[in-house]
Amino acid sequence: MLYELLGVPENATPEEIKKAYKKKIIENHPDVEGGDEEKLKKIIEAYRVLSNANLRSIYDLQNLKGSLKKKHIEIYRQIEITLKESLIGCEKEIQIDFGRVKCSSCSGSGSSTGSQYVPCEVCSGHGSQVNLKNNGSMSVEMCQNCRGKGSTPIYPCKKCSGVGGYEVVKQIKIKIPAGMSENQIIRFSDVKNEAGNFIISVAIKTLEDGVWSRDGDDLKLNFDVDMISAYIGKRDVVIDPYGREIEMEIPPGIQTGDFQFYRGAGVNNKDGDLTINFIVKTPKFKNDRSVKLAQELLKEIQNIEKHRT
Ligand SMILES: [Zn+2]
Ligand SMILES: [Zn+2]
Repeated sequence: MLYELLGVPENATPEEIKKAYKKKIIENHPDVEGGDEEKLKKIIEAYRVLSNANLRSIYDLQNLKGSLKKKHIEIYRQIEITLKESLIGCEKEIQIDFGRVKCSSCSGSGSSTGSQYVPCEVCSGHGSQVNLKNNGSMSVEMCQNCRGKGSTPIYPCKKCSGVGGYEVVKQIKIKIPAGMSENQIIRFSDVKNEAGNFIISVAIKTLEDGVWSRDGDDLKLNFDVDMISAYIGKRDVVIDPYGREIEMEIPPGIQTGDFQFYRGAGVNNKDGDLTINFIVKTPKFKNDRSVKLAQELLKEIQNIEKHRT
């Protein structure tokens, strides 16, 4: 198990793997007391595979197939996070229903004595109930009182109150590393509880931001410019999702569709760039004074253009 060799969990980030590797190299170096050359070779090989994204995913897949043979139940979940959370990383809690287990006290019978049942009072022993709806239609549903059995124990099991079992629902904490891509999967391959052994796969879905967006390793920003600033130009500063200040020099006469390019200002731990797309916003509201000023401005602009040609 390559992850065990480096002493990291299977969902370790590349940074965590690198850090663990450096530590293990020092610990197991033959020149150090307690060092082990054979183990060192294995650690180097483990790092060669796990530090390469392609080799790691092949290894993970083989591992997954191996553990599926061990009768793991796979649970697939999608988790929605904001663009900022996907860029800087975050921790989330998800609730997972692992399914129903039999009560250990009554082996699922619901009776404390293991026998002695009476017909269910709610469904008169039918196990189902007919529901008449307001619109006159009928539906047949399983009786909730006896859970379809038609009978209830005279002496209900104290542990499960006669139900015979319970749902195993647990909160799972997941750490989402910085810079995860859309649909990338975080896998927890060995989750055990009373309902069985599970593999939990969590896929990342990033919510639309409207202002910031991501395209692979590149970031994109839609930046609104008011009509007057678009005409005369201005300096401005935006704060990106990492909290970095991006200084902009908006040249006079900028149009919607114009853009500026910032090399290296994309996804932090990758080799991406930032593109700022400008959108010139025309004001929606007016009054007599603003109309008069706008007309004067227009006249002046037309005057300048006439003299230039
Ligand atoms: Zn019933
Ligand atoms: Zn019970």
